[in-house]
Amino acid sequence: MDHQQQQPFRTDPAEVEAWAKDLTQQFSQLLATQQTRRAQEALRKRVQSTSRSRSRSPVPPAPLHRHTPSPAPPTSSSSAAARSPRPPPVPPKIPNNYPSPSAQSQSSSSSYMTPAPTSPLPMSPSQPQFQPQPHPQPHPQYPYQQPSQQSASASASSSHLRPPPTPTRPFTRVNSAPTSSNLPPPYVAVRPVPRQPQPPSDSASTQFRNFLMGLSETPVRYENPGLLDNALSVIPLDQIYGEAEEEHMLFKAEAQSLGQFKEKWGYQDCVIRALLRWFKRTFFTWVDCPICPNCGSKTELQGLTPPNPDEIVRGATRTELYKCPKQDCQRHERFPRYSDVWALLEARRGRCGEWANCFSMLCRAVGGRVRWIWNSEDHVWTEVYSDHQQRWVHVDACEEAWDQPRLYTEGWGKQIAYCVAFSHDGGAADVTRRYVRNPRMHGLPRTRCPEEVLLYIIDEIREKRRKNLSNEDKNRLMREDMREEQEFKEYVAAVLAAEVGAGAAAHLELQRPSEAEKRPRESGRGEWARVRGEDGQHSGPANRPGGRGGP
Ligand SMILES: [Zn+2]
Repeated sequence: MDHQQQQPFRTDPAEVEAWAKDLTQQFSQLLATQQTRRAQEALRKRVQSTSRSRSRSPVPPAPLHRHTPSPAPPTSSSSAAARSPRPPPVPPKIPNNYPSPSAQSQSSSSSYMTPAPTSPLPMSPSQPQFQPQPHPQPHPQYPYQQPSQQSASASASSSHLRPPPTPTRPFTRVNSAPTSSNLPPPYVAVRPVPRQPQPPSDSASTQFRNFLMGLSETPVRYENPGLLDNALSVIPLDQIYGEAEEEHMLFKAEAQSLGQFKEKWGYQDCVIRALLRWFKRTFFTWVDCPICPNCGSKTELQGLTPPNPDEIVRGATRTELYKCPKQDCQRHERFPRYSDVWALLEARRGRCGEWANCFSMLCRAVGGRVRWIWNSEDHVWTEVYSDHQQRWVHVDACEEAWDQPRLYTEGWGKQIAYCVAFSHDGGAADVTRRYVRNPRMHGLPRTRCPEEVLLYIIDEIREKRRKNLSNEDKNRLMREDMREEQEFKEYVAAVLAAEVGAGAAAHLELQRPSEAEKRPRESGRGEWARVRGEDGQHSGPANRPGGRGGP
């Protein structure tokens, strides 16, 4: 495969790069000036107070020192970390099957967080949490003198949050001058290496590749005219199109009243929005513990059981067994988990796996361009392409959520390693940055394979899906990829701006989650969401699949 050809997909357009560079330079200069000023002020006060206390010697110096401002001013980043309810960092668990430390060092420095590649400095491996490090002096936990340790200390997930070094403030590793602790943090980690896709070379990577390859088939299964016709026959099209038209008129009226040239959402977007409401409110049912058909009590999960022949025929991959807890009933109830969309059109019930699968297919049936999103922390959802806004829009059928990508991190308190999008024509895309805006707060280490290998796998899937497309379609998809990359870079810049506390209003707006995104999980009863850590009460990692039968 020719990867040189693929390269334009993720190299920046020159102007974006220039813009990002300019932005980060401004931030770093600002930060430097602020910090130096505060440092000088602190030092001056300390000197004054010390000399005062010496001149009036009977007064013990301690109380005065209590009022001495700390020489290290709290940066917005450290307060952000303090807000984070996450536990203190622990060293990343390295799977035993990692071939060598060098492979590990490439492993999870997330490519999705890399800004303009500029220097051949070594990338850092992942760290569960970034620890703000404003002290350039040697620190027991972060010995800067050792390059390997140094790269380990600065998490990849945070690397982009630090502006690059500016010529006005050369970076010094070891500096014991009194004001050194007030210098800007070491910016070395911000400069990533441009990544080249690399084929998987260890068993974990190969496994992950096969896993993603398998997942990439999901949206391809929707491309069946018989299936889509069947789907159209269950959708109340008159109702959907009627609602969509009405809502589109409202958006147009709104735009007109605000003097805007363009309405917020187009007609096709409104069709999907109407479909979403109908799907959630009338078509599909959420199943946690099924109701006993005998007595109406809530059943209890007994475990997994092999699907019976009938269930297998209808595409069940596994069946959950439930039992009625009532003494005089004790009836068993089966809940086959269908991955086959035909069966789901009939069953019309399930959890997020079934919801996302069936809803994505229905979006396709009404003519939407669809992505099926896999998330490594046990959730799946949909993205639909908005021609009107020229971008992919997050849609979660379980939550009736439209364009609320921060719902999982800000609302459910989820931490996320990977979100990968699959579509029948585009192939695959790493869309994690859309859902994890601040990797330091909400990112998990990406340890499934080295980032270079993930690039390779995504290229491989893209190649496979696009190879039979016309040149026109290929070019269109490539332009889309570039637009999406730019969108992701803007998110990164917005977080950077917010953290330095000097962002333009537009950037803050980009960074701030909407009210709708700050809500706990809706689908599933409270206990179910709580067990999974998705009730918005805490932000510990969601329980791994297996406990309650997965998504
Ligand atoms: Zn019963």
